[in-house]
Amino acid sequence: MGLSVYLNGKFVDRDKAYVSIFDHGLLYGDGVFEGIRSYSGLVFRLKGHIDRLYRSASAIQLVIPMKKDALMKAVVATLKKNKLKDAYIRLVVTRGPGDLGLDPRKCRHGRVIFIIADKVALYPERYYREGLHIITAKTRRNLPQALNPRIKSLNYLNNILAKLEATKSGVEEALMLTHDGYVAECTGDNIFIVSKKTLITSPTKIGALEGITRDAVISIAKKRKIIFREKKFKLNEVYKADECFLTGSAAEIVPVVRIDKKTIGRGKPGKLTLELRDEFRKLTKIDGIKYKID
Ligand code: PMP
Repeated sequence: MGLSVYLNGKFVDRDKAYVSIFDHGLLYGDGVFEGIRSYSGLVFRLKGHIDRLYRSASAIQLVIPMKKDALMKAVVATLKKNKLKDAYIRLVVTRGPGDLGLDPRKCRHGRVIFIIADKVALYPERYYREGLHIITAKTRRNLPQALNPRIKSLNYLNNILAKLEATKSGVEEALMLTHDGYVAECTGDNIFIVSKKTLITSPTKIGALEGITRDAVISIAKKRKIIFREKKFKLNEVYKADECFLTGSAAEIVPVVRIDKKTIGRGKPGKLTLELRDEFRKLTKIDGIKYKID
């Protein structure tokens, strides 16, 4: 049996799931999305993802024609339908089909909601064991006053441009700086450093997504009384850091050991990074919405 995707209230075979070429999500990137994980029959922090989706939608004045509860149920139903216990879930809401022309009022046929659940494709195991090499992209993160990176919109070109730089340099991820040179985030992950036993991450208001994994790491750090600061920092602080790691729903917590060909700390995944990863893995077993595959 092939994959079934949820499309506007119905389950459709993946090969028959289409959206219109007039959809403003496709024509203009006018829409919002979420990337969610399920672990052994538990959708990790589903409520947090749904809340963020509605916040992103509200920031672009897009009304999602479904209650939060119903949308959460649709996510779970998609997992059950495909008998997936461990999955990556992509939830997308577009402005829907309209005329040519930017004006969202031209989308008179209603929003399009779809949910794809599939097997997870993690980074290869050796990145978790040995750590990731990354570069700093020349492409700067969008200015919050232009297109706020807190909005998880379908317009990901800013991130894609930086990702292309990473690929060209032969690495998987690129760090993005704000217009004034502060560390914002990576193309698809938030960034943390450990410096003098203090765990540090950038404030999202300078130009980063309010990552669900980022939030989880902060809550673990607070619970374990790890010294934590949310503050602006520059690239040289990453170069000098004792540890560095990235967080994201797909990547979870992945250590970074080299940036711009400079070694971070001892060039191995750090102690605190590994401790946080263990704690995070424990959290993925309890913090979310449980479901059963019949
Ligand atoms: N930043 C960006 C730009 C992202 O796209 C993502 C999600 N892939 C993240 C950070 C991490 O967010 P989360 O932990 O919610 O997956």
